[in-house]
Amino acid sequence: MMQNQRDILIVGGGPAGMMAGLLLARAGLRVTVLEKHADFLRDFRGDTVHPSTLELFHQLGMLDDLLALPHSRVDQALIHIAGRQMKAIDFRHLPVAAPYIAMMPQWDLLDFIAARAKQYPGFELLMQTEAVDLCYDEAERVSGVETRDGRILHAKLIIAADGRRSVLRGKAELPLQNIGAPMDVFWFRIDKPEGYGGDVFATVQSGRFMVMIDRRDYYQCAFVFNKGQAAAVQAEGLDAFRATLRSLVPDLSAEFDQLSHWDQVKTLEVTLDRLTRWHRPGLLAIGDAAHAMSPIGGVGINIAVQDAVAAANILAGPMASGEDPDPLLAQVYTRRIKSVRRMQALQKFAQDNMIAPLLRRTEPIKRPFLILRVLNRVPWLRRLPGRVVGLGFGREDIRSPEVASVTE
Ligand SMILES: Cc1cc2nc3c(=O)[nH]c(=O)nc-3n(C[C@H](O)[C@H](O)[C@H](O)COP(=O)(O)OP(=O)(O)OC[C@H]3O[C@@H](n4cnc5c(N)ncnc54)[C@H](O)[C@@H]3O)c2cc1C
Repeated sequence: MMQNQRDILIVGGGPAGMMAGLLLARAGLRVTVLEKHADFLRDFRGDTVHPSTLELFHQLGMLDDLLALPHSRVDQALIHIAGRQMKAIDFRHLPVAAPYIAMMPQWDLLDFIAARAKQYPGFELLMQTEAVDLCYDEAERVSGVETRDGRILHAKLIIAADGRRSVLRGKAELPLQNIGAPMDVFWFRIDKPEGYGGDVFATVQSGRFMVMIDRRDYYQCAFVFNKGQAAAVQAEGLDAFRATLRSLVPDLSAEFDQLSHWDQVKTLEVTLDRLTRWHRPGLLAIGDAAHAMSPIGGVGINIAVQDAVAAANILAGPMASGEDPDPLLAQVYTRRIKSVRRMQALQKFAQDNMIAPLLRRTEPIKRPFLILRVLNRVPWLRRLPGRVVGLGFGREDIRSPEVASVTE
């Protein structure tokens, strides 16, 4: 794309960047997305597509095609804890086209969005292109980025969607507030034995606990431990790690032998933070770059997508008619920050009142927590967590126009 013709340059091809790219190109803008990796097929990074996100694809007329991709469906969350199965969350009553979580590998979701975005003539995706610095004009306004291979790419607006370790937000000197998290997580998968299964299992022992999420033929396992202890756990060796897993879930002792190398175990350094300003002239941060979410509730992808929708709703029309984006950037922050703050406050509450006590605990759990017992007993109450997790706070609808026509 000719540099002086580019309206928007998005750094980061995750859920936030790709969704913003799709919507802005659909509105007739000339958009380039930079992604530093060669493809989307990377480590496990979460695969929960929540009802709020499915509803956006419904509004775009793409839901049926998205759901034609392999996925599994969670209508209710059943938590197995202390030997009992507890009904905890119910999504089935949500007022949306698809009232359930679609469990779908994130790379499939991103490939899908990329394929749709490429149908718009203004969209360009540059893979293996890493932004390393910002460029400024003579008025100190951000005017472009410098890539690792030495190119300078200009645009009227830069969107930093480069994730929780955003380089651009640091370069732009946007102020970061760290809220903190007591835990880190090892993610890994094990094949599921025949006849074993069912939703979410939680098990606790000696200050470590594990959540196992049923993915039909395998379990996605999250082993949770005190923050900063990843190296210490690894230093104890793989045999000791497998022994801990066996003591947590004796029924799956044989399955844990599938872990033969630490490469199979991905570390998530849990972060809960947010920028207190998401923009400066010429640049806007969205998604994890603006606010890293805790994994509690699995809401990160969905909140990132909601940011993208809000940004497109506010910017697309005015930018298409040649308006300066700078005065609009604060509106994106104002529109989204309350939703982010509320969800992070809930996550912090859960971290402080559930996760941290579990990590301090040395005895196995003898009976499910009170809150789970109440939810299990009162069906209508389960709709409340269903609404909060499934739709979040301050849900966005697609309001950016479809101006560009699709090319086959
Ligand atoms: C192990 C793990 C498990 C998770 N589980 C869940 C879950 O179950 N459900 C859920 O909703 N969320 C989950 N999350 C969080 C979720 O993945 C994020 O919240 C979400 O992906 C944020 O989207 P994003 O687009 O803002 O950022 P990201 O998905 O982080 O995307 C940023 C993109 O920018 C690229 N990039 C970074 N720097 C540059 C650069 N300088 N130049 C070019 N490209 C760059 C990266 O390669 C990446 O593709 C999980 C995260 C991890 C790490």
